[in-house]
Amino acid sequence: MIDALVVGAGPVGLALSADLRARGVEVEIVEKRPTADGGTRAIGIHSPALALLENSGATEELLRHAVRIRRGEARADGRTLAAIRFDRLRVRHPYVAALPQADTVDVLTRLAPPVRRGVRVTAILQDGAAVRVRTAGPDGDDERRARVVIVASGWAGRDLVFRPGAVRTHHYPDRYAMVDVAAPGEATALVHLERAGVVESFPLPGGRRRLVAWAGTSELADAAGFLHTALRERVGVEVDTTGATTFRVRRAVAPALRRGRVIVVGDAAHEVSPIGGQGMNLGLLDALTLAPLLVRWMRGGEPEGLAAWERGRLASARHAARLAFLNTMLGRGASVAAHAARSTALRAVLSGPGGGVFTRAYAMGFDAAARRGGESGRPGQG
Ligand SMILES: Cc1cc2nc3c(=O)[nH]c(=O)nc-3n(C[C@H](O)[C@H](O)[C@H](O)COP(=O)(O)OP(=O)(O)OC[C@H]3O[C@@H](n4cnc5c(N)ncnc54)[C@H](O)[C@@H]3O)c2cc1C
Repeated sequence: MIDALVVGAGPVGLALSADLRARGVEVEIVEKRPTADGGTRAIGIHSPALALLENSGATEELLRHAVRIRRGEARADGRTLAAIRFDRLRVRHPYVAALPQADTVDVLTRLAPPVRRGVRVTAILQDGAAVRVRTAGPDGDDERRARVVIVASGWAGRDLVFRPGAVRTHHYPDRYAMVDVAAPGEATALVHLERAGVVESFPLPGGRRRLVAWAGTSELADAAGFLHTALRERVGVEVDTTGATTFRVRRAVAPALRRGRVIVVGDAAHEVSPIGGQGMNLGLLDALTLAPLLVRWMRGGEPEGLAAWERGRLASARHAARLAFLNTMLGRGASVAAHAARSTALRAVLSGPGGGVFTRAYAMGFDAAARRGGESGRPGQG
């Protein structure tokens, strides 16, 4: 019987496996996809997650690939509403490390134990002091036994642990168009809160940027065409948007993260709108604050601290979901009068102490994990 089995080789499952491996735990990771997912979703890793990723050696590697975003600006109608200064936060990594999710996954894959690919978990069954995990893979059906199973399967694998409907999911009506393009410039994050809807522009490594625009609530037939026009009309940017994609947003927080020897982390447990950029970070904090508790459990026999961990992670997920909801509201198109009122109010709030609070919230400074091990720079050893 192995100590720990991780379901899903997304960023969260990989980060957990790499961390457990660094702590000397025997861990196995299985992934239903035969090859790594090359698609890019998350691009920003915040200070608390970077601090906790140091334990496996991932942070140094990630920072070698990333561009460091030290400041941002909220703008409207060509004017700056507020500066967002990550470099003024008193944290271990006073910046956002920006790199495509596929690169993050690449770095973590090298630090994790070899991923068993093409293996889909079909059932998870508690069995006394063990968990039985049924799989279907290239060599047929199989069953593994582990002392603890961590489900990091993203939303797609939620039904492995939750009854249908147990994780209430809110589907926002909003749609967004997105493209990553070559666009050399300053490493400043820009959020344009325009009357016709938000445009976000985030630096990526290699002189590229991620551009995102609110696209209303109806189906988009031509994402590239829409995005091209939206960028030109809203912020005067003319770029080739070929290859643009669309995404919609959901909000879900599971009622619980643990049942006996089965624990759920990452998007399998919660989803927040990408407008705000915290989904992957939440999952990384779930996983990396869980790892030392698992080590103690494996070595000492008692699952100490898990109830407090679960409460803390659920509170963080709800907080992030509220923040993402606020960002989603602020990013919608508005009437002339509502837009003017919104801009005036934001300038007033963000130019005072509210600006610092917003920056800290955006950088996940209110996550309980950020206030403890994550930002101490001394990740707990197992
Ligand atoms: C457009 C967009 C932009 C985003 N930007 C940001 C951002 O800037 N910052 C941020 O923090 N977050 C962002 N996010 C959110 C982020 O992408 C997710 O939160 C993150 O991918 C979740 O990681 P995960 O490992 O929990 O799940 P996933 O990435 O979904 O990985 C789960 C893995 O489990 C595998 N799996 C599923 N079921 C099984 C099974 N039964 N057996 C075996 N394997 C299985 C899947 O194949 C998958 O590889 C964004 C999301 C989107 C859509």
